[in-house]
Amino acid sequence: MASSAVEEVRDIINNIKEDIKEYKGKITLTWIRAHMGNFGNERADQLAKEATLISDETISFVPSRNQIRNEENKIMKDLWQNRWNDSKNARWTKNLIDKVNVDRLYGDFYINQILTAHGVFREHQARFFEKTSLCLCGQETGSVLHVIKECEIWTSYRKNWPSGWQLMSLKDLINNADIRISLRGLLHELLIKELDLF
Ligand SMILES: [Zn+2]
Repeated sequence: MASSAVEEVRDIINNIKEDIKEYKGKITLTWIRAHMGNFGNERADQLAKEATLISDETISFVPSRNQIRNEENKIMKDLWQNRWNDSKNARWTKNLIDKVNVDRLYGDFYINQILTAHGVFREHQARFFEKTSLCLCGQETGSVLHVIKECEIWTSYRKNWPSGWQLMSLKDLINNADIRISLRGLLHELLIKELDLF
């Protein structure tokens, strides 16, 4: 099947999702008895039957946005792991944490970047990978605190944090559910920037 046609199929699904998202009224799901002459239902039934006669190949889909994102995340973690493995200076730490993805410890790849202090932050990177410790913004040392609380590159992530966040400790920030979600996004983007991906 031509890839344009596959994408078309995905477009149809995405358009339906968009329509549902944009619809401001109430959407009700109702069970309808089959074969009672309901036009939409009969039509859906007929299409479903036809679909069973088509070969699998013709109804394959391009990956969804979520699948693409998961794949990107996997590539990124692998690259990060490789860089970690290649670093000779980090041997002592590797004895403690032999996978960069230390899910076993804290259950969250991104938040681990903060908690272990062995993350993507330049202050740490400079020690182990002979890189500059200057933050991407060029203003300060790229420490955990600078990146999370000060760096102007990430201002948009802090916009919706609850008031008073400036006074919160890193631990408190991480423990706040909303901030935690936003920090994961920030760290994801930081990792991508630092790995020169995409
Ligand atoms: Zn900065």
